Amino acid sequence: PKRIFTFRKGEAERPADAIESLGLKGANLALLASLDLPVPPGFTISTAAWREAKASGESMPIALRSDLNAMVEWLERVTDRRFDGDRRPLLLAVRTSGPTAMPGLADSVLDIGLNDRTVEILARELSDTDFAFRNYRRLVESYAQIVHDADPTEFEELSDAEAAERGWSGEPSTIEDWRALMARYHAFLDSELGVVMPQTPFEQLVEVVSASFASWRSPAAAAHRILHGIPENAGLAVTVHAMIFNERNRHSGRGRALSRDLATGRSRLTGEFLLGSRDLLEKIERAAPIDLGELGGKTSERFPGEVGELTRCVKVLEAHLGDVVEVDFMVGDGELFLLQSRIARRSVAEGVRLAVEFVREGLIEEEEALLRIDAASLDQLLHPTIQRPADYRVLARGMPASPGAATGVIVFSSDAAQRLASDGRGVILVRHETHPEDIHGMHVSEGVLTIRGGTTSHAAVVARGIGKPCVTGAGTLRILSDARELHAAGTILKEGAEITIDGTSGEVIEGAVPLVRPSLDGDFATLMEMADRARRMGVRTNAETPAEARAARGFGAEGIGLSRTEHMFFEGDRIRAMREMILAPDEKGRRAALNGLLPIQRADFIELFEIMAGLPVMIRLLDPPLHEFLPQGESDILETAEMLGIDEASVRQRIAALQEFNPMLGHRGCRLAISHPEIVEMQSRAIFEAAIAAGEKTGSAVVPEIMVPLVSLRRELDFVKERIDRVAAEVTAESGSRFTYTVGTMIELPRAVVRADTIAEVADFFSFGTNDLTQTVYGISRDDAANFLSTYVREGIIERDPFQTVDVEGVGELIAMAVQKARRTKPDISLGVCGEQGGDPASIAFFEQAGLDYVSCSPFRVPIARLAAAQSTI
Ligand code: PEP
Ligand code: MG
Repeated sequence: PKRIFTFRKGEAERPADAIESLGLKGANLALLASLDLPVPPGFTISTAAWREAKASGESMPIALRSDLNAMVEWLERVTDRRFDGDRRPLLLAVRTSGPTAMPGLADSVLDIGLNDRTVEILARELSDTDFAFRNYRRLVESYAQIVHDADPTEFEELSDAEAAERGWSGEPSTIEDWRALMARYHAFLDSELGVVMPQTPFEQLVEVVSASFASWRSPAAAAHRILHGIPENAGLAVTVHAMIFNERNRHSGRGRALSRDLATGRSRLTGEFLLGSRDLLEKIERAAPIDLGELGGKTSERFPGEVGELTRCVKVLEAHLGDVVEVDFMVGDGELFLLQSRIARRSVAEGVRLAVEFVREGLIEEEEALLRIDAASLDQLLHPTIQRPADYRVLARGMPASPGAATGVIVFSSDAAQRLASDGRGVILVRHETHPEDIHGMHVSEGVLTIRGGTTSHAAVVARGIGKPCVTGAGTLRILSDARELHAAGTILKEGAEITIDGTSGEVIEGAVPLVRPSLDGDFATLMEMADRARRMGVRTNAETPAEARAARGFGAEGIGLSRTEHMFFEGDRIRAMREMILAPDEKGRRAALNGLLPIQRADFIELFEIMAGLPVMIRLLDPPLHEFLPQGESDILETAEMLGIDEASVRQRIAALQEFNPMLGHRGCRLAISHPEIVEMQSRAIFEAAIAAGEKTGSAVVPEIMVPLVSLRRELDFVKERIDRVAAEVTAESGSRFTYTVGTMIELPRAVVRADTIAEVADFFSFGTNDLTQTVYGISRDDAANFLSTYVREGIIERDPFQTVDVEGVGELIAMAVQKARRTKPDISLGVCGEQGGDPASIAFFEQAGLDYVSCSPFRVPIARLAAAQSTI
């Protein structure tokens, strides 16, 4: 095989699989050289040579040794220097790299070629004894460490001893002192390690290359390979190049430069440059770019040519790679060299800005710009985040249930939340789990933390809907309700203590951590416009409150894809009318109570229709089992009985009667509508009357879409639709207004999938309820899943939580089947999805493939869905 590949400015031997063959560093230097950018001349010993050596069992096979020798001779010619020469000694740097960045590989070894003789020649050549010996000393230290595993602190001790003996401090001051120090180093190698550092430069090189080869087997590298599935035989490459004397004088240094100013996206050389210093890398502050052209006037004055050349280099690279580049560079006695380049790292906001700017400058197409942004990461632009760098103590970790960070004082009940919030305090509501009656508490809180539940639990779904950060399932926390204390990792927090939650990471943090609230600037809007041009699917929102609907419209939602009407019954004293209805002894009583709810519902719908004027609004009939609306605690029961004038025993009796073993599989969805048609009638009437009223107000006709939940039989939908149609006829007759509406169903049960063709005969639309569909296809309760699904993911039994990302092989297969069946019956049937997966980028890619017409998601996920829908078409 070809074992070694050379490079120098303007020419490079580059194999097709450069990274696999030459490692990251070698491939990168070869690229820079081939673009005619200034790099030190050198060569890379390929992974093929490494494999050959490994197979031979020798640390340096003869063939490689002789190739290496030939390459050194080539470098001598190119540089006009000699390894071990009598003048102008050739010094080499050795750098090791694998196919990806990985820990455990040998560190770089610099100045190979220095020995007791050449160090003095170099000192004379440069008229700089200290510089020459400093490099020699560093070479001996790295040689001992890399080749013989020496402990670096040993050399500090040697140096201290020598300084004390000869009376210098810091570093030797005369050539005699330097010679004595190096003699002490050699003696140490001999006596303590039992080795002699080769005085022949070529033998130094051979030993260092062999040691670099062996570092592939270091425990850290081996662990990394296993973790990332990198085959043992991939191997490493060793790059050898001429040394640059970047620490030599006032005309030398090293730095890191970017082709653009990340803060503005504009072309402008930024970065850091340090003159003649050694430990620059630690000092680089990416956050504070320095204009290299202006650096105190010094850089451009001292290196006018180099700054211009550096600017040219990053421009060439940026044009070649089509993205912002970052380069590591060195200046040796006024001459510029590039050592490494990479695509510049950036924050989400910077990424958006750059993608838009690149399109504006005509450097990339819109499609490419869209693909450069990780859709899910847009979350960071929509919610407050923890200001970085941050130093904090994590009390517990839960599920990242609703993104963003929030700080506030802890409260354990929704009433306390309301009380403190009305005093102007920011509160975090902490509950075992939340229930519908907690909604008012959640609304006034900055964030929500629950001990139980997963990412589709009540707390998670509601929090996402209203855009509040939420962490669920923080199972290591304990709430002591009576003491009003939260116990966490040995810390006791009383009600009123401050905490921070991060719903993006799932962290629960002690105390208040500073947050940053990013703004949606022009570039963000521009990116969204690009996404809208590219996507095929519509993006609607799941919303029921005016605040949610407004927020969603602001984020670009094209209508409402799910309005869960039950959430409207918990607000204020509506719950009372709802309880009155449920507790009524007969249908007559129920109808009377429902009459009280009618105007409230109508007003809700009018507001939604107005906010969404001109856009479709899909309203779902009541879904949850009735017991969810009933009082829970002792005092609540007494209060309800008194308020409604019903005796306490009847209330208890009714609660007992409505008790179910598996309420999620029980008396809910269209089953409720069938046993209580009066509820359907009230809701339909409210919808139709609101449509008429809102239509008159806004001047554009409202076409409500009424959705029936949890259908598994066509006859169920027939039954409910009959009631809806009858009410429509009544309202038309009463009002004299004509209006149109559609009736459809959710597909959220396996039987509905199997019978999709016949159900489609009655339905104008389907919306896939992937929360319930996942729950019923797997037979996994969505509220209890968090307890074991994380173990499934950890153990590799499933790749991802199917309640977050649609399970393409199982649930997805069923969706595809229902789509096919439905379209066979009714080619133009409208098909959407409104489960949580509707806002998940990976799921959206599947929904695009499945041919759905739109996705619907919580308001804050609308921008993510717009981008993901666009990406899934590219
Ligand atoms: C669903 O089941 O996916 C759905 C959207 O309905 P809900 O979450 O209200 O049950
Ligand atoms: Mg459902």
